[in-house]
Amino acid sequence: MATNRTFTMLKPDAIENGHMGKILDMIIQAGFQIKAMKYTRLTVDQAKKFYEVHAERPFYGELVEYMTSGPIVAAILEKDNAVADFRALIGSTDPAEAAEGTIRKAFAESKGRNAVHGSDSDENAAIEGEFHFGANEIF
Ligand code: UDP
Ligand code: MG
Repeated sequence: MATNRTFTMLKPDAIENGHMGKILDMIIQAGFQIKAMKYTRLTVDQAKKFYEVHAERPFYGELVEYMTSGPIVAAILEKDNAVADFRALIGSTDPAEAAEGTIRKAFAESKGRNAVHGSDSDENAAIEGEFHFGANEIF
């Protein structure tokens, strides 16, 4: 079934490298509507919880450190088929494998510092959106 909402974060490297505006523009130009958005910084506890599914992976510690190293932009996005279309817009996890025209191809530094997060399922999109936003912050 086509889905209509996904969740994203513009990660610390994207903000640090001055790509916030360009990435938001690509997202809007691709037809996503911003339903909620905030400029914030994750605490270590929040980053650990958000990436809990990767807790046993060797990169988990580094990932938590990186995701808490500076501010991020968190957002809920709406569009037909949002989860799949947004994963297509951001491209592969590793920018070396990301297609031309994708956000990660254009802006990611590396497989770890890869500019942007996109939910991988409807279920996770809802969980991740609720993790960051209260009902009165979603428009
Ligand atoms: N990551 C990493 N090394 C890896 C795989 C992933 O540092 O070998 C980081 C990277 O920032 C990635 C995040 O962990 O975006 C979550 O990994 P996942 O496999 O869920 O990739 P994504 O869904 O973000 O493409
Ligand atoms: Mg993932």
